[in-house]
Amino acid sequence: MPLLEFNKKGIYCPPAKVYLDPWKPVDKAIISHGHADHSRWGHKQYITHHTNVPIIKHRLGDIEVTGKAYNETFVINNVKFSFHPAGHIIGSSQIRVEHKGEVWVFTGDYKTENDGVAVPYEPVKCDTFITECTFGLPAFKWVSQAEVFNDINTWWAVNKAEGKTSVLFGYSLGKAQRLLKHLNPEIGKIYTHGAIENMTEVVRPFIDMPPTERITRETDKKAIAGNIVLAPPSAHGSIWIRKMVPYVTGSASGWMTFRGARRRRAIDKGFVLSDHCDWPGLLESIKETGAEKIISTHGYSDIFSRYLREQGYDARTEATQYEGELAELDSKKEEGEGAP
Ligand SMILES: [Zn+2]
Repeated sequence: MPLLEFNKKGIYCPPAKVYLDPWKPVDKAIISHGHADHSRWGHKQYITHHTNVPIIKHRLGDIEVTGKAYNETFVINNVKFSFHPAGHIIGSSQIRVEHKGEVWVFTGDYKTENDGVAVPYEPVKCDTFITECTFGLPAFKWVSQAEVFNDINTWWAVNKAEGKTSVLFGYSLGKAQRLLKHLNPEIGKIYTHGAIENMTEVVRPFIDMPPTERITRETDKKAIAGNIVLAPPSAHGSIWIRKMVPYVTGSASGWMTFRGARRRRAIDKGFVLSDHCDWPGLLESIKETGAEKIISTHGYSDIFSRYLREQGYDARTEATQYEGELAELDSKKEEGEGAP
């Protein structure tokens, strides 16, 4: 019997009788991070990293949830579990599972670059590595975030000089705080859409970020002019955004690698910035785990697994209901709350 198996409800550990990031309601769920496709509603009991507790409660209401520290081992039916930094968003964790000398690691979502917000990714040695591969194609190769934020702040300053408001789209949980952390408040004021402000209030105790102002019905239209507004992708094309006229839009996502992705969504400016690994990041991480068996989940998993097999790995794909950064392609999926 494998230590972890994929069934209709999620990733199941038979000896411990628990699920990792299940997509259907279960009794006991170990949760990698607060995004909606990984921490779903309806489980009887949640176990996650401490930092995720207020995030998940904010999204799901009054649930039964236990917090753990990174590297803290907890045992369920003789199976040892622990959380390790995944570097994807604040609180994001890989889940290590050990039983009878065998070690499996499930990454959840992860990235290797230190974004200055999440605890940086740490490789964990294992026999079997279950990895996401949202951007598992050689075309995806990120430039350093210092360069991207320099571009974003320059874009803002230029828009301001032209008397336009900059509207920058990003998920309310994760991307929004990463953007906020690195915006230069000397250029102007940072305004937020309510969905982003609500989530930012939840994580502000853990992250040092510039001040923000929530846009409400009372906010003076003239006061916003020339400043920057952080909004979830779902705000694009809404009535809400009319208050920002004249404005220009920007989107920060790994998908901005493809020009068509920006044009199809009528975004003025695309910045390639992702909270997932790029192609070299995925390959480097796999190598560092020392694992021989690799299971790819969401993303370009079939192509990625085939490539890994050509490199000599015992690699296969398993279907899950995780969405990676897809919500940035289809803004309706976000619905104003935390999304993948
Ligand atoms: Zn995620």
